[in-house]
Amino acid sequence: MVDLHGQYLKIKDEVNQAIQRVIDSSAFIRGGDVHQFQEELAAYMGSKHAVACGNGTDALQVAIMALGLQPGDEVITTPFTFISTIEVIKLIGLKSVLVDVEQETFNLDTDLLEVAVNHRTKAIVPVHLFGQCVNMEAIMDVATRHSLFVIEDNAQAIGADYLFPGGSTQKAGTIGHIGTTSFFPSKNLGAFGDGGALFTNDDSLGELLRALVNHGMSRRYYYDYVGVNSRLDTMQAAILRVKLRYLDEYHRLRQKAAAFYDTALSTITDIQVPVRSPFSTHIFHQYTIQVPPGTRDELKQWLQEKQVPAMIYYPVPLHLQRAFSDLGYRKGDMPVSEKLSETVLSLPMHTELDEEQLEYITGQVQAFFN
Ligand SMILES: *Cc1c(COP(=O)(O)O)cnc(C)c1O
Repeated sequence: MVDLHGQYLKIKDEVNQAIQRVIDSSAFIRGGDVHQFQEELAAYMGSKHAVACGNGTDALQVAIMALGLQPGDEVITTPFTFISTIEVIKLIGLKSVLVDVEQETFNLDTDLLEVAVNHRTKAIVPVHLFGQCVNMEAIMDVATRHSLFVIEDNAQAIGADYLFPGGSTQKAGTIGHIGTTSFFPSKNLGAFGDGGALFTNDDSLGELLRALVNHGMSRRYYYDYVGVNSRLDTMQAAILRVKLRYLDEYHRLRQKAAAFYDTALSTITDIQVPVRSPFSTHIFHQYTIQVPPGTRDELKQWLQEKQVPAMIYYPVPLHLQRAFSDLGYRKGDMPVSEKLSETVLSLPMHTELDEEQLEYITGQVQAFFN
């Protein structure tokens, strides 16, 4: 599904030097590269503040902690995403309220948003799934009218541009009150281990987030808040500084692979290739096709036999996961997410796919349908 080693080989010297520099300095925690990475990342994102942390799940947790919510407060998100969001909402003692997604984009269906809002609702966590943005104007409109916070889970769309109707653009993750991301190795900007970051344009939130990720410490050994220990280590920051310089190029390579897939697969009637949203560029964290339910599993099996990896993101929507049965949802409550869990299939998508590999993969898909 990914080729992290191949990607490393192309930037090996730069990465190795960066790692050696950190070892030589021995400033393994909160070293200079962390601060420089935060500045460079903020500049890339066009965000006033970027706060590095331990991973994308912690980023979500810290974002929610920063909002000062009370037990029983409700946070709206979607059931068709990675587990992190509802996990941290529950850990903090809040309640997840789930809103189904759109079949075309896999993203939160903003037409269903407002009916989910009540007097206990305090925040919305839209997830920019697979590499393109949720309709943020619709989200911000509902949030403004009901005085809700918006935390963008941008783990899968770092660097995607939100396209406003007037022609202006803004990076995904910088439109709501706080944005979060993950540097898990297979993410578009992946570290050599765990990592994450938060974004905000609000100075006081920026200061609070910076304290929260480091035990709630405002200055050395003075603790103004209850925080967590969630720091990006210097080695990861040094590696990410190198890779950030290649991020736009990585996006182009993914988009090129996606275009190849589109051309080869869009003529197959049983395949729905990824639909491009009108309000976002697509940076293809995943290239996810939709195939009729029974056929999907047969196709996956067929590809596996031909040594082509293919993955199902996500096989069980979150409202049907046992750990969250207390939310009280049942099969049938989120029909689009449930259907998608039976029809989606993600094909190999990374920066190192060459034409020969793409031809082999698409050839095997075509052979299956012939
Ligand atoms: C990867 C991911 C996360 C969690 O990031 P980690 O760094 O693995 O904790 C959260 N949300 C989404 C949508 C993700 O894809």
